[in-house]
Amino acid sequence: MPSDTLSKNLNIAIQTLKAKEGSFKKIEAISNLGSWEIDLITKKSLWSDQTYKIYGEKKGAIEPNLELFFSHVIPEDIQRAKETLALALQSGNVTTFECTIRKSNGEKANILMSGQAIFDHTGLPIKLLGTTQDITQQVSLRAHSNELAQLIEYSSNEIYIVNYHTLQYLYVNKGGCDALGYTKKEFLKLTVFDTNPTLTQKKVDTLKAALSKKGNALNFTIHQRKNGSRYHAQAYIHTLTYHGVDAYVIFDTDISDQKEVEELLKEQTKKLTHQAHHDTLTGLPNRTLFKDRLAQTIIASNRSGEKFALLFIDLDHFKKINDSLGHHVGDEVLIESSKRLQKALRAEDTLARLGGDEFTVILKDIKNIQGASTATQKIIDSIKKPIKVAKHTLYVSSSVGISFFPDDATNGHDLIKFADTAMYKAKDEGRDSFQFYSSEMTTLAFERVVMENSIRVAINDMQFVVYYQPQIHAINETLTGMEALVRWKHPTLGIIPPGNFISIAEESGLIMDIDHIVMHQAMYQFSQWYKEGLNPGILSLNLSMKQLEKKDFVKKLLDTMYIFDFQPEWLELEVTEGQVMSNPSTSIQKLNEISNAGIEIAIDDFGTGYSSLAYLKKLPLDKLKIDQSFIKDIPHDEEDASITKAIIALGKSLNLKLVAEGVETKEQKEFLIENGCFHIQGYFYSRPIPADEIARLLKKSNEI
Ligand code: C2E
Ligand code: CA
Ligand code: CA
Repeated sequence: MPSDTLSKNLNIAIQTLKAKEGSFKKIEAISNLGSWEIDLITKKSLWSDQTYKIYGEKKGAIEPNLELFFSHVIPEDIQRAKETLALALQSGNVTTFECTIRKSNGEKANILMSGQAIFDHTGLPIKLLGTTQDITQQVSLRAHSNELAQLIEYSSNEIYIVNYHTLQYLYVNKGGCDALGYTKKEFLKLTVFDTNPTLTQKKVDTLKAALSKKGNALNFTIHQRKNGSRYHAQAYIHTLTYHGVDAYVIFDTDISDQKEVEELLKEQTKKLTHQAHHDTLTGLPNRTLFKDRLAQTIIASNRSGEKFALLFIDLDHFKKINDSLGHHVGDEVLIESSKRLQKALRAEDTLARLGGDEFTVILKDIKNIQGASTATQKIIDSIKKPIKVAKHTLYVSSSVGISFFPDDATNGHDLIKFADTAMYKAKDEGRDSFQFYSSEMTTLAFERVVMENSIRVAINDMQFVVYYQPQIHAINETLTGMEALVRWKHPTLGIIPPGNFISIAEESGLIMDIDHIVMHQAMYQFSQWYKEGLNPGILSLNLSMKQLEKKDFVKKLLDTMYIFDFQPEWLELEVTEGQVMSNPSTSIQKLNEISNAGIEIAIDDFGTGYSSLAYLKKLPLDKLKIDQSFIKDIPHDEEDASITKAIIALGKSLNLKLVAEGVETKEQKEFLIENGCFHIQGYFYSRPIPADEIARLLKKSNEI
């Protein structure tokens, strides 16, 4: 190889080496890692640039050797350094060693020495090669994280780290162990469900949703200790990665004390609110609470459209009791009266004591004056029973004023004021009674009371008589039967039609007695006519559902038929569609019993009661009576005409007989015949007439 080529190659080699050395130096600088070697024979050392830098020495200014190294090691670490060196020379393994040095400028630094001895063929160490790394930063970081770990470990809070997916505990601090009574080892076998007995998977899912949204969540929970006891805890939860695992850390605080204080406060507040809203003597709501309830009732009634009544009750001559017998007797009277009032009312009514001997009541869902007067009379009667206090027997009466929502007023203030005014009216009228705020209502109420009493008298004195209205087959104009219709023969007012008393009789239950009278009279009459050889056809009796619902109704009916020798096939019972549909399931059962006894059933006033077809099919019916309101304007009124046709079609499809009521004209009759309804009842043929007139008619037709 020519010498210039050689020198060129050498040059390239030197350049390459220099370049490598340059890179090497850079790497050493980046990692803060210097290299060194010690010739154990010559005792000479070689330090890389970075090694010089680590010790803060200047290259060339000083001879690098072991002494120089030891001069930098702080005195506390020298002994250990020497021992490690000896170990490295003996073992031949890579030996590492951490110590603190003081740089030439006085600054302290942490270094990590790694070295290995090289031996000659006799096994004598001849060289030591190694590195020195400045790890000051890592050491301080490590110290810091140790401090943090200690902080967490000894924090008085309970701190738990839990696997995000399995909910198993991964870490628990001392606080957690102390609080729950498990050791760390035991904890690692548990999940959060073992320590939070009220926690549900649903709750966990909600919390996880919050965690994934915000990264943290707050939860209130109950912790159960190993010994089974429990306490309230508040938990702050954060997500984190723990040793590479998805996890969350929970910071729990025992809030039992706080809870206890809260409960105590709640209890006290409850007591105070109760005291603020109730009367101490009777325990009843006071004026404040009453006004509140009244306001709520007004809102509810506005929404539901239901009426309610407000009563103002005042005990008569209460002052006299107080003055003559003392306050303690007065107090006892008030307590006893409040108990009686409460008993006389329904659970949904509100009773309050406004003060002194004044009580107020909200009677909810009152349909009419009748309802209010019945309830009020009950109250007055309950107070009136003798009250025994100590050795006294007292007779206390009361006066009651009634106002109506919404008739009299729509605001609470006026309702109370008006009921109060009405109460004074009752006092003026002689006490021990009630008055409505509206005088028409009072009149009406008393008219009804008077009416009810007169009906009672009428029942006793047999003032009810039966009229009969024929039902005719319109094609051959023959009598098929008669409807029994009650009339009140009043001794002074003359004949009173049922429209004037049936509704009061129904509300008071007196209808049952009236129906009973009608049934007896009519059955007796029909039996007589049949015995006389006359043919009155079928007797239609109107029955109120109240009557039907009575347990022994069917038995009584059959007994009556037996007494009068009345055949079941002569009888038909009419029930109005409205009454049947108001309680279809009971009706089905009752009507089946009747039908099974061989008695026919007609549904009265059909078309007015919103029948459900499903029920119609289930009822044991024989006949539909088309309500007279549809007949009135046929055939001119198109709507009524088509409803009538539809009812006829419906009746036919259900295989039922049909009767049209209230037929007054020839056109009406002809329209009905044309459309297939042949049975007709109405003034066109005859008004309801007394039995003797019917008898004359029957005899006449017999003669023909
Ligand atoms: P209702 O059962 O629908 O009886 C038919 C009513 O229509 C009767 O009225 C009858 O007089 C009347 N009426 C019959 N044909 C015509 C007509 O062509 N034109 C007009 N405008 N009216 C006609 P009444 O007798 O005044 O009875 C009224 C209601 O009182 C009856 O209606 C029935 O619901 C009830 N009622 C009558 N008697 C009794 C009874 O003994 N017991 C029961 N529970 N209710 C009865
Ligand atoms: Ca009827
Ligand atoms: Ca009718």
